[in-house]
Amino acid sequence: MADFRFNKHFCGTEECSRTTDKIRQKLKSSEMVYNMCVSYQCLFKSAKTNMGTKRFKNECLQVICALRNSNGGSLVIHTYGKPDMAWSLDGFDQLVNEDCSMVIEDDTLYTDNYERKWFEELHDDSVARLPYLVIIVEPSSSISTYDFKTKVALDGAKVRPTARQIATYLCGVAGKKRKTQAESEPKFEEGKITNIYESRNVQLKRLSNEDIEEKMRKRGSGPTPSASRDVPMAMDIVAECFVARSLPEYLTTFSKLPGGGSFYCGINERKDTSEEPKIKRKKTQSSPETQHIEGTKTGENIIAGIELTEQQKQDLEKKLQRIITKKTGWYKKVNDGKYEQLDDDSILGYIDIKFHPTENGHGQGTDMGQGKRKYVIQVSVNSMFNGMVFYTDDSYPAQLNRPIPLSFRFSDEKKEEIVDTIEWFNLIEKAATPLER
Ligand SMILES: [Zn+2]
Repeated sequence: MADFRFNKHFCGTEECSRTTDKIRQKLKSSEMVYNMCVSYQCLFKSAKTNMGTKRFKNECLQVICALRNSNGGSLVIHTYGKPDMAWSLDGFDQLVNEDCSMVIEDDTLYTDNYERKWFEELHDDSVARLPYLVIIVEPSSSISTYDFKTKVALDGAKVRPTARQIATYLCGVAGKKRKTQAESEPKFEEGKITNIYESRNVQLKRLSNEDIEEKMRKRGSGPTPSASRDVPMAMDIVAECFVARSLPEYLTTFSKLPGGGSFYCGINERKDTSEEPKIKRKKTQSSPETQHIEGTKTGENIIAGIELTEQQKQDLEKKLQRIITKKTGWYKKVNDGKYEQLDDDSILGYIDIKFHPTENGHGQGTDMGQGKRKYVIQVSVNSMFNGMVFYTDDSYPAQLNRPIPLSFRFSDEKKEEIVDTIEWFNLIEKAATPLER
């Protein structure tokens, strides 16, 4: 499975080849040395706004992960275009050090695992510093993971777990009860405030017919602004709207909760736009597709619904099932600490998809004519899953649609490879905190 390649962006100068070779010889001969080149400009930009910086950051972390899983080593980064006396590493530190800290699997310190410094060359009595950054990486005590491709829940949010959290969870999961959710069925009155609110097991998303048409226009497959509203909506695009709202990631968080959890589309957070808040609001990492309305949240969630015909409803259910089985991977813990991957039908055994027709307040459905009705759509994980669920997204283009943890290492042929998922499970369990039984 050596289908993973680091993109080194070698700057191509003879000077760089010569210097890198020289540095290689100075480092411990036994260890793995990996080199790459980056422009100095790139180092000081934000990975959120600059594509070059983002790519550099990802590659850098992938190499560091692979070095940790290959008994340690060094990464040498040539920074070309650097002003002579600019030796501050502030930009670089801010770019990678939190993520580097996150991939330490045990309780050892960051400073025990990494060291970064400019390469220094001794000339007689003086020391010459070269624009080559050397990062010394200590080996992992179990396995280092670049991206778990699974998230854990906060209340109303999802975050990256630590290796130790994953491992401790997996070690305890076999004995856990699969509690099924006993919830009272809420009413879905259109335009009314609902008592549903976000929590660890509830996520609410805005999705309207306008949002869907907007997405279809962008894809060039939908109605143009002047076209009539009767142009059929493509249900695969509607299903993609669920993915853009992070449905696969939330399913991974719900699968770890005793009663599972629910993702609702078609419920809007009401915002007060009459008065703009004076304080500059913190930028959220919301997906670019989510419609952003300025204003202060009022704390009220409004039932809106999505207009669908009976046929569209049936199609959408199938598309949602398909996208869930394609974009999530389920590995069940079975006897003797082994793991088995679920097939599509088994995955869907853990998933409920419900279409709640909206009502008009008198217990009657809001029929839009032509057999159309408005629905709030609920996608749930119906119980806890004794194992681990992964999602896939487009953040790692070399492995699209493979919902697996991304953990790298160098093979014996010094090629880079993704650690096999079943093997990864066995290695990650070693990072667990011993449980009291
Ligand atoms: Zn170079």
